[in-house]
Amino acid sequence: MTDPRGAGVTVLGLGAMGSALATTLLDAGHAVTVWNRTPARAADLSARGAEAASTIGAAVAAHPLIVACLLDHASVHETLDPVVAGMRGSTLVNLTTTTPNAARELATWAAGHGVRYLDGAIMATPPMIGTPEASILYSGSRDVFDDARPVLDRWATSTYDGADAGLASLFDLAMLSGMYTMFAGFLHGAAMVGSVGVTATEFAERATPFISAMTAGFAHYAHVIDGGDYAAPGQQSLEFTELSHSHIVRASEEQGVNPAPIAAVRELISKQIAEGHGAEGSARLYESLRADHTDHTQTSQETLR
Ligand code: NDP
Repeated sequence: MTDPRGAGVTVLGLGAMGSALATTLLDAGHAVTVWNRTPARAADLSARGAEAASTIGAAVAAHPLIVACLLDHASVHETLDPVVAGMRGSTLVNLTTTTPNAARELATWAAGHGVRYLDGAIMATPPMIGTPEASILYSGSRDVFDDARPVLDRWATSTYDGADAGLASLFDLAMLSGMYTMFAGFLHGAAMVGSVGVTATEFAERATPFISAMTAGFAHYAHVIDGGDYAAPGQQSLEFTELSHSHIVRASEEQGVNPAPIAAVRELISKQIAEGHGAEGSARLYESLRADHTDHTQTSQETLR
């Protein structure tokens, strides 16, 4: 008979994120067993009704669905290698941040031990877990995604990216690349106006609506890249964009501000111009960044262990 409280779940790792995941499941009525390397961190969850396993072996034996939210790829192996023989037939949903190849390595390792594997990438902060703003990306076994959906959907909007276990991580890190580069640009801009005494708070208020509006440019660039015609009319040329970047670099230097983030982009643009593409659209910068067509799903997995 189906447990009316929902499936039992084991949660490994009770840092900020693992605790949020476990709390959300408890609040939804699931039976939750928790384990943490430092046992004291389980106290709050025990008080809320979780079962605190005294050993990792007991934790993975408690429920067929095991969720790992540890620090990194190495900590997943360090935690589960000693008990993986006892996990045969279980399901592992790994929400620990890893690189795509590390996720693929874990999927292969799990399959080798008869463990069903789904990799996940959390696009949320701990307080967002269980709210409509949270999103979690998944890749690996479609069957696991479908079977675990009643649990996964407690935390966030769940998106399945494909059978290649590395895809969720790849999307996650690609989006974080955009985010961190944008933050570096914001900090650089704050330093520029900070050179004349403007506070970062005022700059944030001024910059937010403008930069938010500029994200509409993603779709325009994407259209050009996917169409492959960097010479089509209506595009801002690389030469024009280089001039704009050179103004920013020079203004930074004049104000005594380190131009490193914008100078790095300018260097890529200059390389495209030197190769003869100055009159083409600025989306052509993509050509300086993209991978060649070798199979990047297979490289260097062996070096991960
Ligand atoms: P914390 O630093 O708060 O917690 C880390 C957890 O990993 C702790 O439970 C810690 O145990 C455990 N751990 C670390 N090393 C080992 C090890 N060698 N063996 C066993 N356990 C270990 O991190 P978060 O909870 O914030 O993050 C967990 C995962 O979630 C990370 O991969 C992170 O990238 C990802 N994530 C976090 C987000 C966030 O906003 N916090 C957002 C998106 C993803 P102990 O208590 O014993 O130190």
